[in-house]
Amino acid sequence: MAEPDITFTLNGRTLTAHKGETVLAAALRAGIHIPHFCYHKYLSIVGQCRACLVEVLDAGNGRAIPKLQTSCSTPVAEGMKVSSGNERVLAAHESVFEFLLKNHPLDCPVCDQGGECPLQDQTMAYARALSRTHEVRRTYPPKEINPYIRPDMNRCVHCTCCIRFSQEIDGGGEFGWANRGDRTEVGIFADLPLSSIVSGNVIDICPVGALTDEKYRFTARVWEMEDAEGPCTLCSVGCRQRVWTMDGEIKRVTAGENPAVNDTWICDVGRFGWSAVHGLERIRQPMIREGGALRPASWEEAFGEAARRFAALAERGGGAAIAGLGGAWGANEDALQFGAFVRTVLGSNHLDCRVHPRDIAQSEAQRAAFGAVGGFGSIKRIGRAKTVLLVGADPFEEHPILALQARKAHREGATLISLHPRRIDLRVHSRMIHLTPLPGQEARVLRALARALADAGARVEGEGAEGYRAALAGADPAALCREAGADAEDLAAAARALGEGGAAILAGPGVRDSAAAAEAVNLANLLEAEILFAPAEPNMQGALDMGLHPEILPGGRPLSDAGAREACAAAWGRALPDAPGLSSEGILGSLAGKWEGKGEEGRVRALYLFGADPVGGRPDGARAALEAAEFVVLHASHTSASMAYADVVFPAPTLYEEEGTVTSLERRVQRLGRALRPALDMRVPEPWRVFAGIARAMERPMKGASLERIQRQAAQLAPDYADALARLPGEGALLRRSGRGALRPAELPPARGEEGGLRLVLSPALWLSGPFFSSAYHLWDMPGAALRLSPPDADRIGIGEGEEAEFELGGRTVRLPARVDATLPVGLAWAPEGTLRALGGEALSPGGAPDAGGVSIRVRAAARAGSEA
Ligand code: SF4
Ligand code: SF4
Repeated sequence: MAEPDITFTLNGRTLTAHKGETVLAAALRAGIHIPHFCYHKYLSIVGQCRACLVEVLDAGNGRAIPKLQTSCSTPVAEGMKVSSGNERVLAAHESVFEFLLKNHPLDCPVCDQGGECPLQDQTMAYARALSRTHEVRRTYPPKEINPYIRPDMNRCVHCTCCIRFSQEIDGGGEFGWANRGDRTEVGIFADLPLSSIVSGNVIDICPVGALTDEKYRFTARVWEMEDAEGPCTLCSVGCRQRVWTMDGEIKRVTAGENPAVNDTWICDVGRFGWSAVHGLERIRQPMIREGGALRPASWEEAFGEAARRFAALAERGGGAAIAGLGGAWGANEDALQFGAFVRTVLGSNHLDCRVHPRDIAQSEAQRAAFGAVGGFGSIKRIGRAKTVLLVGADPFEEHPILALQARKAHREGATLISLHPRRIDLRVHSRMIHLTPLPGQEARVLRALARALADAGARVEGEGAEGYRAALAGADPAALCREAGADAEDLAAAARALGEGGAAILAGPGVRDSAAAAEAVNLANLLEAEILFAPAEPNMQGALDMGLHPEILPGGRPLSDAGAREACAAAWGRALPDAPGLSSEGILGSLAGKWEGKGEEGRVRALYLFGADPVGGRPDGARAALEAAEFVVLHASHTSASMAYADVVFPAPTLYEEEGTVTSLERRVQRLGRALRPALDMRVPEPWRVFAGIARAMERPMKGASLERIQRQAAQLAPDYADALARLPGEGALLRRSGRGALRPAELPPARGEEGGLRLVLSPALWLSGPFFSSAYHLWDMPGAALRLSPPDADRIGIGEGEEAEFELGGRTVRLPARVDATLPVGLAWAPEGTLRALGGEALSPGGAPDAGGVSIRVRAAARAGSEA
């Protein structure tokens, strides 16, 4: 934001304001408090509570404004003179507060807001502390909103913050006025349970105890807790949050402010997902498999066992017999040390943090075009774009705060374009174009869009332009749309909107194949638009930056670069192998015996899983690979489907319990706000200490015996992190990359013909998929895992909402409740991927090779055998 350039005086003090800034906003920015309730920096202004009244002694034109003005809605003018504390204003404040309290129950001792209540605090500061009324106060019958929010409308001061949030930010508009006059009440539309995934924000913004946190309620008082501020680490967005603890337990999470990321909103997964920290599925101590079962072991015993087995395997087959997978759920410092451990202690370059094939497709497309992964888009840009193209992204389900950024752009007039097999719901009623290709056909539509843009005058130039021009010349948008199952007119409208400039692209987890990833990057290059890839794992970007990739070392330098290897060897104190490593695909394939090398030589036989769950997290289930592994170490915070194959288990802290840094999807490095240490009975050290413990037991000690030393290594090996780690402001350091990428036409996937039955697509739903979320007991109140069917398909099968659907997948019979979902086209079914609590912690996976086009299933109503579609 530009420097403020308007000068005015408030209570005799000279202040500056931006053009259009209000008196209240400028005063708060300068640290001067004017009482207020309905004002919120990120909501529209309504001037409704009247608590912020001020007197304008001079409006900047030499004349006073006779009536008191609401400072929240009065823009500052040059030369203005304002008083917020003269007798007239103080009397007005006193009256407003007395009026607000007329119907407010005086139940502060039993109200959860006590101690952090603006009504309580401001009444004490600006009004009489005594009530002059004795009449019976207005009461409302109790109501329910959802399992997370406890309403008590008797306490409501009608500030409309919740209403404006639900209409402007969330878009669901469930909150609204009900009744009239002195019976006016905040109501929930049709008294439906509020299902929004960002609903919990109303708890933070309600200035009184009318909307409180049901899960935190009566568990602590605000003055008894400590709070730690830092990034949320439950998805890759990195929203700022405050984690509140007491006696070694997390009590609640509230939103923090980061104008570049989340303004001041967090989603309900971030707000309530902390419960996994105290979940029963936490791994609490090291374990060793003996006689087919895991038994508790001491740390030294587990270090010794891991060291003995790794050393024996390395002696037989060299270090390349061992591979490391994971790191995207740990801190950057853990990732750096995991890489050092696998490469220099185990002696293997078989190392990858990308366990899901789509992460490989997305990162390799970026690497091929830009020579690096990440840093080519920003969250802020999405919020300010004129057109937002969402490719394979359903942000309300996958990265909720990105949905709020897309909606923010829309509020400012942007057009939203969704390229997704479902008609995703961003809660907008205009300027939204849905291109709904068949699953796996996204690349065709992206190519058709590029051709339409080139026809409209977009310049195809730069590296690879010739080949790309040739590919576009052979592309017929109408034919591509027909083959992809998309509407050509919608495509033309989307191309027109994109052609107006100012576009930003968000590529989500629905970009599953390399063709779609490459064509999304090509389109970004053609439009000269920012492109933001949104991985599901919270620290995928940081893990890649720290070198958890078979061909990339920390700082993005290639393994093939002898100088880069030498720099790593100098930092880590030991040389690393120079033979290229395998990606997770290659590692799992090699373990399973699909090794294309020379016989048994060079085959991967053992696996170190660091925070990775390939059995639960991959569409092919990876079971054959883990079954064939001779030795598996699992190092994680929670039990997972992969644990059944582990020989040695090490517990890991969650990111609520660690110090260090993480890097979000836009390459924003943020310092973790360690909220608590792992509970004493768990005694869980940081992962880098565990790597060092095994290394010690192998008599190959590692360098980097403290967080500071590891950060020095990171700064040395990844120069763009050096400056970030040295200063790290509160909002984090955004490490952007610039430059236009190469154009690389992809080979389009084969078109699919009509098929009988249903096509099932598995996709991540933030709160459902994965061992961490399965253990987060507060999230169990969110919508459970279901098989989503279009209304015609549900009718044909004869299955209703909530009834049990049965189908075969990956060689077993799966039962999930049906959800009738009008966003789905006929012939498509949708389910969350990965480990699901609904399946008793089992993973939902087709079992075969991953297919971006989904898998064919036949569904029947479990209660009525014979009805099948
Ligand atoms: Fe304001 Fe809270 Fe009442 Fe909503 S419930 S209008 S946020 S006081
Ligand atoms: Fe946390 Fe992601 Fe939700 Fe933000 S969007 S609060 S980072 S889970």
